[in-house]
Amino acid sequence: MSNGRWAVVTGASSGIGEATARALAKVGFEVMVGARRMERLEALAAEIGGQAMRLDVADAASVETFCAAVPAELAVLVNNAGGALGLEPVAQARDIDWLTMIETNVLGLMRVTRALLPRLLAGRGHIVNVTSIAGREVYPNGAGYTAAKHAARAVTQTLRMELNGTPVRVTDVAPGLVETEFSRVRFFGDVERAKKTYEGLTPLTAADIADCVVWAVTRPAHVNVDEIVVKPVAQATASMVARGRGL
Ligand code: NAP
Repeated sequence: MSNGRWAVVTGASSGIGEATARALAKVGFEVMVGARRMERLEALAAEIGGQAMRLDVADAASVETFCAAVPAELAVLVNNAGGALGLEPVAQARDIDWLTMIETNVLGLMRVTRALLPRLLAGRGHIVNVTSIAGREVYPNGAGYTAAKHAARAVTQTLRMELNGTPVRVTDVAPGLVETEFSRVRFFGDVERAKKTYEGLTPLTAADIADCVVWAVTRPAHVNVDEIVVKPVAQATASMVARGRGL
C-alpha cells in the first residue's frame, strides 16, 4: 500500500535503478522513474504503478523538464544514472568517453540534485547516490571511470556537510561487481567480453543493491546511513577477485 511519499530514481530502465524502483514501490513509495529508453521505463512504471518520464542527465534541458514534473514534496532521490565507457590506459583515453562519464556520473548527479533540493527540503527527504568502489580505489585502465566516481563521492560528502542542519539525509551506496548491463555498456555492446567480468564468481545482483537503498531510506528520521560499501564475497578490492573457487 502507498505511504503517499514520492521517490525519484534516475537510470531506472535497467539494472540497479530498475531493481531499486521496484523495491521502493514494494515498501510503499510512489515512484517516478527516469532514463532515456522510454519503452522499458513505461513497462516498469506500469508494473509498479509508478510514473515514467524521459530523462537524459547529460542534457540540462531534459533535467529541467523532468524535475519540473516531480511533486513538491520529495522523500527520496536515488541518483543512479551513470556507468563506464571503455577500459583503456590513459595513453589511449578517448575524450568523448571521458566526457560522457563525467557528464552522466558527476554533472548529471549535480543537476538533478540541484533542481530537486527545494522539493527534498520540503519533504524532509533523502538523497542516495549510487557511486562505486571505483570512487574509493583506482585500477589500471579504469582512470576515466574511477575519476568520475571519485568526483561523485566527493560531491556526496560535500552535500552531507552542506545539508547539515537540515532534515535532508545523504547516503553513498558504493557497490563492487554487480551483474547488470554495466559491462555491456562499458565494452560498447561486446556481450562476450562483458560476460567475462562475472566469470568464475557469484556477482551481486541489482536486487542486492536495491536492498541496501531500501534499508538506508527506511531507518528512523534521525539516522543517517552515510556510506554502504558492498561487494561479492569473491571480491576483496576492485582488482582482487577470486575466481573459480565456487564463491
Ligand atoms: P546499467 O544496467 O547499464 O544501468 C545504467 C542506467 O543508467 C540505465 O538505466 C541507463 O538508462 C541509465 N543512464 C545512463 N546514461 C544516462 C543518461 N545520460 N541519462 C539518464 N539515464 C542514463 O548499469 P547498473 O550497473 O545498473 O548501473 C547503475 C549505477 O550503478 C551506475 O551509476 C553505475 O556506475 C553504478 N555501479 C555499477 C556497478 C556494477 O558493477 N554494475 C558497480 C558499482 C556502481 P538509459 O540508457 O535508458 O538512459
